[in-house]
Amino acid sequence: MKAIQLVANGTPGKFELCDLPDPKPAADEVVVQVQSCGLNHLDLWLEQGALPIPVPLPRTPGGEVSGRIVDMGAAVTDWKRGDEVAVQSNLFCGECEFCVRGDDSMCLRGQLLGVQRDGGFAEKMTVPTRSLVRLPAGVDFDTSAALTLAGSTAMHMLTNRTQVKPGDWVLVIGASSGVGSAGIQIAKALGGRVISTGSSEAKRDLARRLGADFVVDSTDPAWPAQVRAITEKRGADVVVEHVGGEVLHKVFDCLARGGTVVTCGATAGKDVMMNLWPFFVKQQRLVGSYGRDRADIVTTLEWAAAGKLKPVIDSIYPLDQTAEAFAHLRSRKALGKVLIDPYEPVSESD
Ligand SMILES: [Zn+2]
Repeated sequence: MKAIQLVANGTPGKFELCDLPDPKPAADEVVVQVQSCGLNHLDLWLEQGALPIPVPLPRTPGGEVSGRIVDMGAAVTDWKRGDEVAVQSNLFCGECEFCVRGDDSMCLRGQLLGVQRDGGFAEKMTVPTRSLVRLPAGVDFDTSAALTLAGSTAMHMLTNRTQVKPGDWVLVIGASSGVGSAGIQIAKALGGRVISTGSSEAKRDLARRLGADFVVDSTDPAWPAQVRAITEKRGADVVVEHVGGEVLHKVFDCLARGGTVVTCGATAGKDVMMNLWPFFVKQQRLVGSYGRDRADIVTTLEWAAAGKLKPVIDSIYPLDQTAEAFAHLRSRKALGKVLIDPYEPVSESD
């Protein structure tokens, strides 16, 4: 089978299109024929060698997988060949205290698909059955790949780690990102009044099309003041944040009393200084969010099937153009998800 492997870290890293033996499933695993696999900022960190965990190379990246079961281990009884599935990328153990209570995003022995184990930029891959979610009718492979990771991350942030109540002001950072584009739609569906940020007119326009009530220009240093003005000086009740660095300071400038910042990333900087005085005086919360639980993926796919959550797909690349796909994501010009389609070479949609 064909697979793209990262063989040397760098910006860009060195990728090779390899012919590898077909993967063999363990007793509790299936072999998934990959139909679509999304690219994530995590893949860029893997490419650069910038993850806080050692990753031996070569490695097949790719964690946002949808596909079809083509083989299975001896102990698998609940799945059959031909079943269409999404794959949960935070492979959880299923046995630790957190997994047992359903918080598999907190698993003590979790592994990242495409980082600690070969992922979906390949024609086939193996995965434990506990990480499979059945695709509902009406959800195609590209929709699943575009939403399974980023959409379920936003679902986990907005319905598990914090809750949006009808009428809440919700600020969603980065409308064009996977988390941002899903976050806008989820917050609106929950009854929030949504403000989003975008660094270009195209990104702000996307935010409006996804349902944002107000949009501010994140390249304008005064954008936090604009958020305060939009909310009549009150500030946002919930902020969906995934950028970190200076942006984290700015979101606290436009957070309401009793408000919550929920964050799932640090693409612009991991080390942040914080002024604790207004934080405790205003009784605010900063909540971490990591990955998703199986329940979040199930809900995300149900919402997609019901038309409540639409994927935003920027472009689809064939497997042999994976390096170009990485370069496109790195350029920050992508409007929505960049997908790799290992079986059907499709030209870019832009
Ligand atoms: Zn566990």
